Amino acid sequence: MNDSKYIYLDNAATTPMDPRVIEEVNKHFRETYGNSSSLHSIGQRAGQILLKSRETIASLINAKRDDIFFTSSGTEADNMAIFGVVSKNKNRGNHIITSSIEHHAVENPYKKSEKSNVEVTFLPVDKYGLIDTNDLENAITDKTILISIMFANNEIGTIEPIKEIGAIAKKHDVIFHTDAVQAFGKVPIDVNDMNIDLLSAAAHKLYGPKGVGMLYIRNKGVREGWGKYIEPIMYGGGHERDMRPSTVNVPGIAGFAKAVELAKDEMSIESQRQIKLRDKIIKGVTENIEDTFLNGHPTQRLPNNINLGFKYVEGESIVLDLDMEGIATSTGSACSSKSLDPSHVLLAIGLEPEVAHGTLRVSLGRFTTEEDVAYFLEKLPGVIERLRKISPLKKGS
Ligand SMILES: *Cc1c(COP(=O)(O)O)cnc(C)c1O
Repeated sequence: MNDSKYIYLDNAATTPMDPRVIEEVNKHFRETYGNSSSLHSIGQRAGQILLKSRETIASLINAKRDDIFFTSSGTEADNMAIFGVVSKNKNRGNHIITSSIEHHAVENPYKKSEKSNVEVTFLPVDKYGLIDTNDLENAITDKTILISIMFANNEIGTIEPIKEIGAIAKKHDVIFHTDAVQAFGKVPIDVNDMNIDLLSAAAHKLYGPKGVGMLYIRNKGVREGWGKYIEPIMYGGGHERDMRPSTVNVPGIAGFAKAVELAKDEMSIESQRQIKLRDKIIKGVTENIEDTFLNGHPTQRLPNNINLGFKYVEGESIVLDLDMEGIATSTGSACSSKSLDPSHVLLAIGLEPEVAHGTLRVSLGRFTTEEDVAYFLEKLPGVIERLRKISPLKKGS
């Protein structure tokens, strides 16, 4: 495989690091090796970088600097939010409301919680993947301690009505968590305007390093601080204001901050550019290949996400054939692509299991060019045609 010719259209699974971020991380691996908790000046320097990074990252979502808590991943941030709220609010209630299309990093902690006396309502979604805010409001009881709805879906790209959900959570005085791992840095987020209390993000989905994530925790009261409604899930040193022990990954976090700075500067232009490419692919595929359709919402979707259904073929075969043409794509989502069950997201939007098997996710990124898109549109019809010829699922059979 000639790497320089390889076209990477799987940016929803993870992104390549921006060279400017690599530069920044390298610099801090060399220079900022101190432990940010140490008293000496080498440690204090690391502490300064940490503080500055926290400030930059907070500014992207209109949060306060000290409400950002670093983790090792988006998954860890989701687990910290869910298990942290459940254990802190045992006396208040045991009911949680979420959607039926969450990432496994949210879905599986809820399934685990259900085994220990927590009741979870999984709200249905419509054919576009949107929850109904009336369903949400109707599901709230006096035992509800948490509403957790993802900002944007990782498979079909649909963006949920987060501001409306936040307003409902606030009205009923319920804590609101959103998994914003896909949306962070791609669409505008304002935790105050949207009444978000907890928000998860990960650096590697926005051209930052892998192994760095964060949980935003709104400080709801000066005296008890964050501890008012959430408690740690790990115990150790006093890092991250007693919420998340572990020696802090300062070089990785500095890279996360650099990635956020770039996202902030380039978001509006970059999202316009990607929307054009996205819509070109949607149009090019659905108009030129028979028995093909778009999954997810036509407009209320991430600028970089395209999820296509192809009748009579297997998504896995499309991915493997495109790979031979030098193009990286994905079936449902990266986490489930090794299992044979159809994705819970595609079933939730109402696809029949055999149709759900024939889906392809194409996710664009900062480094995707017009030429890449043209090459993809040139190669795909041949791949689909060839697979349909040999498919046992053929039309009419
Ligand atoms: C990728 C992703 C996660 C998991 O993040 P990691 O950093 O890989 O643990 C969680 N939620 C969503 C929506 C994602 O896309």
